[in-house]
Amino acid sequence: MAAWWRCGVFSASQKRGDYLDMNRQADGKRVAVVGGGVIGCLTALYLHKLGAKPVILEKGNTGRESSWAGAGILCPIHPWLYPDSFTHLIDASLAMFPAMNAMLEEQSGLKTEWLSSGMLIPMFADDRIHHREQALAWSKRFGWKVEELDTKQTCEHEPTMSDQLNGSLLWPEVGQVRNPRLLAAVKQALENCGVQIREQAEVIGVGKNGQGDVSSVTLANGESIEVDAVLLAAGSWSGELARQIGLDLPVEPVKGQIVLLRDEPGKVKHIIKHDDVYLVPRADGHILVGASMERVGFRPGTTESVVNNLLEATWRITPGLKGAAIVEQWMGFRPGSPDGMPYLGPVEGHPGLWVATGHYRNGVALAPGTADIMSRWIMGETPAIDLTDFRVDRPVLNLSKVGFPAAA
Ligand SMILES: Cc1cc2nc3c(=O)[nH]c(=O)nc-3n(C[C@H](O)[C@H](O)[C@H](O)COP(=O)(O)OP(=O)(O)OC[C@H]3O[C@@H](n4cnc5c(N)ncnc54)[C@H](O)[C@@H]3O)c2cc1C
Repeated sequence: MAAWWRCGVFSASQKRGDYLDMNRQADGKRVAVVGGGVIGCLTALYLHKLGAKPVILEKGNTGRESSWAGAGILCPIHPWLYPDSFTHLIDASLAMFPAMNAMLEEQSGLKTEWLSSGMLIPMFADDRIHHREQALAWSKRFGWKVEELDTKQTCEHEPTMSDQLNGSLLWPEVGQVRNPRLLAAVKQALENCGVQIREQAEVIGVGKNGQGDVSSVTLANGESIEVDAVLLAAGSWSGELARQIGLDLPVEPVKGQIVLLRDEPGKVKHIIKHDDVYLVPRADGHILVGASMERVGFRPGTTESVVNNLLEATWRITPGLKGAAIVEQWMGFRPGSPDGMPYLGPVEGHPGLWVATGHYRNGVALAPGTADIMSRWIMGETPAIDLTDFRVDRPVLNLSKVGFPAAA
């Protein structure tokens, strides 16, 4: 994988990976973090480490929405479809996983189940999209280790796989994390550090002082909390909340359904990604089968037709899994953006208001990078990386292949 310091995002001390232990002067800046998903919670933890006084305001329970539901693949589905700026951000974020994971496990006493399982894309003659050339070129350009396997080698790597394929591409270093465990570790670390988490606390407004600076948030119960800054990290609800405070932020839910299978541990070894389905094997034999891309607003619940589609696609590429048990199914709302890129940074004309949302299909992979950039930025450091493509008032980029799916 590309060396992360190539992006030039971070200071010399961070490059040594020791910034999480740095004994910072407490600044005491009060930051309301709106949304207790992976983005809000992790940024709050990093803010605390930089000496701020964050309070997480969560309308439900922390870590229960998209951040709980996701598959935890630590690689964009098809990273070659995005601009280079996105790869730089992903590379920077993934390079921070080891330090973040060690810090979380130490401070929470919990395991996140972060592991390097590799990711394999099998190639069939009737594939809807033929990724080989682009995928190889992108991997070479950004230093991602990739191997080309023929059909025999692919089936040796993955014995449940259909032999009707034309080889595969394998990225042996791609990792995964088990979302609910990651979120439990983040929450425990926050509690152990004494960061205030307020659940059932829905934010409905942001107040300003006489100078026009953000100075408070208002909760649905009428309570007003005085703060020095507000970070909007409300996932799929960010667009709605932004509208309530007079901003145009085109973040919408993109529903994803997942089916959980169970087979013998190790039966599937790598993350397997194909046109209509991906499989994510957990260490204990659970296999996540995901995920639909539905633009149906906040319509809850799983549907038989989507579950059947996911299972049919699974049996087609890995017929050796036909005997696997179906354990359960669930869904979540990805915070979608029209071009698939997150919104990161300050809001022009609203001093003290910050945004970190719209992470869409990549919020877990982008979590450490986002938390690091946003916490430092809020505390007054200027990011060295060019974040123009992610700014809050950017025009929608022309990236229809990774943006919103068609509305149902
Ligand atoms: C099926 C599925 C598969 C996915 N797979 C992957 C993957 O493999 N890899 C990857 O990197 N990403 C994946 N993702 C995407 C990833 O999960 C998300 O991008 C990420 O979790 C977004 O985190 P978040 O904190 O922004 O949002 P959320 O986790 O949704 O958290 C936002 C929180 O804000 C709260 N909130 C909303 N409004 C308010 C308010 N007004 N006041 C207070 N609180 C509020 C909500 O209750 C919620 O808890 C997947 C997502 C889904 C659904």
